[in-house]
Amino acid sequence: MRTFEKIADLRRYLAEMRAGGKRIGFVPTMGFLHKGHMALMRAVKEDPEVDLSVVSIFVNPLQFGPQEDYRSYPRDLGRDEELCISAGMDVLFIPAVEEMYPEGFATSVEVTGVTEVLCGRSRPGHFKGVATVVTKLFNIVQPDCAYFGIKDAQQFVVIKRMVRDLNLPVKIKAHPTVREEDGLAVSSRNVYLTKDERRAATVLYRSLECTAAEIRKGERDALRLKRMLTEKISAEPLARLDYAEVLSWPDLRPVDVLRRGEVLAAVAAYFGRARLIDNVLVEVE
Ligand code: AMP
Repeated sequence: MRTFEKIADLRRYLAEMRAGGKRIGFVPTMGFLHKGHMALMRAVKEDPEVDLSVVSIFVNPLQFGPQEDYRSYPRDLGRDEELCISAGMDVLFIPAVEEMYPEGFATSVEVTGVTEVLCGRSRPGHFKGVATVVTKLFNIVQPDCAYFGIKDAQQFVVIKRMVRDLNLPVKIKAHPTVREEDGLAVSSRNVYLTKDERRAATVLYRSLECTAAEIRKGERDALRLKRMLTEKISAEPLARLDYAEVLSWPDLRPVDVLRRGEVLAAVAAYFGRARLIDNVLVEVE
């Protein structure tokens, strides 16, 4: 694996690879790698449309609010590097903040509409930070395809919309959510959880699964589903609910009555200092 810290060096190397006919697959991450990231790296390695796999690790300050956990976000570059090697990645890109945002940086990318619900509403500016950094990373790496996890369902929708709207020449591929045995979605932020909070956090997936089961049984009233989801999570004393929503997929619009197609049930809640998100996509027959 080759590791690059400088944009110019990475570009030079990738230009050479591209000239040799290599098709580039890309996995952007914020590091502190876990089973979810490993699954994305495996997917890019196994992708028949990919000849060269690139992973980036960059904790992007632009996507954190002033009261959020940018400074304390877990980091372990040494371990991450080992994991990228073990996953068989060809290239690791680990830029410093000053490399990505030099003095005078003044441009941003903003997607409207789909960013106005869920995490976009709770975390003002978050998706602007995400869209801006992903645009920069796409311009630096110029991948043929890039992988994103459905764990961050709204992020996936935002990136898809941005790529379509700005005609970015990259194919966006989705990967399903990787979970612990008890259903908790794997996340770098799970390290913040105490033992009791860790146990309590399983309420998210359990509640989402109940909602999915109700839909499969024929419940079509979105408000009733949302109320059920809210009540189930609020019944857990260690959970502080941020939102519980049932929205159309993939346009993330509010619905009264579920119609044929897919719906997204999505939740966010605090357990101690950890803000966790999770979701399920449910096929409505
Ligand atoms: P992050 O490092 O949290 O920014 O995540 C980097 C990428 O990994 C994003 O595309 C996430 O959606 C994806 N990801 C994070 N956690 C999971 C998970 N549990 N299952 C699948 N993908 C994930």
